[in-house]
Amino acid sequence: MRGARARVVVGANSRRYRKLVITEAEALAHILESVNPLSPRRVPLVQARERFAAGDILARLALPVFDNSAMDGYAVVASSCRTGQSQRVVGEQPAGLDRKLRIAPGETVRILTGAPMPEGADAVVMQEDVQRDGSQIFIHAQVEPGEFVRRRGLDLIDGQKILSAGERIQPQTLGLLAAQGLTDVEIGAEVRTAIVTTGDELIRPGGSLGAGQIYESNSTLLHALCEKWEASVSLVEHCQDDASSLEAALRRGLAHDVLVIVGGVSVGARDLVKPALTAVGAQTDLWRVSVKPGKPFLFGRAGGCAIFGLPGNPVSAFVTFLLFVRPAILRMMGADEKALSLPTYDAQLAEEVQNQSDRPHYVRGQVANGKFTPIGRQESHALYGLSRANALLRVPSGEIFPGGATVPILALG
Ligand code: AMP
Ligand code: MG
Repeated sequence: MRGARARVVVGANSRRYRKLVITEAEALAHILESVNPLSPRRVPLVQARERFAAGDILARLALPVFDNSAMDGYAVVASSCRTGQSQRVVGEQPAGLDRKLRIAPGETVRILTGAPMPEGADAVVMQEDVQRDGSQIFIHAQVEPGEFVRRRGLDLIDGQKILSAGERIQPQTLGLLAAQGLTDVEIGAEVRTAIVTTGDELIRPGGSLGAGQIYESNSTLLHALCEKWEASVSLVEHCQDDASSLEAALRRGLAHDVLVIVGGVSVGARDLVKPALTAVGAQTDLWRVSVKPGKPFLFGRAGGCAIFGLPGNPVSAFVTFLLFVRPAILRMMGADEKALSLPTYDAQLAEEVQNQSDRPHYVRGQVANGKFTPIGRQESHALYGLSRANALLRVPSGEIFPGGATVPILALG
């Protein structure tokens, strides 16, 4: 348990990077300018769930398709129905076949839910309010015109917009498309992603750890994140910190729409990603962004491939994926502007949070009942707190958010 801690201080010992000029916003703007929606494809409706509509879709069929009954009961002319007065049953109208019936005042048709309204009828009396005696009925309720009638086009008119280009397609929208008689829909392209991890110290889970080694966890984290945002991962490779194997792995990775490289983008002697990218003919557009965790982040390009170099510390990889890779993938999938940012909402801060560093800090925490509580260690290697987090709080450089303050939270769910 966290006991009586009343304050979280982040960035107390962080180094100052005077030359670090690129802000998150500048980096993101550049990345989004550099990637374009890929060519759309047509898929069966159920495969379009959570994808983005490639174009506007207009209704080609009004809904309801025709005037029909909302109840099992009797179709009547409302003005001829006085309580206790009898109506003569002149026919029966089931759902599924229009018998083209018609009634006059004083007449009624036995009707079932979803069945087309007989001509002349303007209301349905539900069967519970009716007493039937042979070919007569007696109505025990007030009948208003329009009652229990589902009018053509009342839900949706012909030509009305059903989906806008770039909108995320929900299951209920797929239901509506099917109700239009459609079997497929055009959506943004699948984004093919490659993940290359680097580091001599890393061992694949399942193997046994030698002294000084740790398990390679970022490919699992990033693979799951890609799939969460519907990108398909078709290559996952681990590479030792060695130039020639790294270059070979990068060449394979560049055959994808997105290449995510993890680790090796810092300034250490074993940080070989930047020279390896140059060696394989890729351009590096930006490197080092003013964000914590995640400073050594890199973005580059080669042909049609967008290249993201994420720092190896797991929380840094996570945060930079969400800030920069996720929006780029979504844009390539054809998402509109609205879908690019993480959902934000206000929460009350459970305890004071201070950011003493010169970079904005993304604090990991839990939101429950409108309250945000920072969770676990806030260093970039600390995977446990991240694993429990369902929200991030961006704390600007030098900011002190007092306990109880209302702050904007980024939802991870
Ligand atoms: P780097 O960015 O390569 O300097 O790595 C920074 C830290 O993250 C080091 O402690 C690495 O051991 C760790 N790290 C790098 N890549 C991974 C990975 N794929 N899985 C887990 N930890 C990693
Ligand atoms: Mg490394």
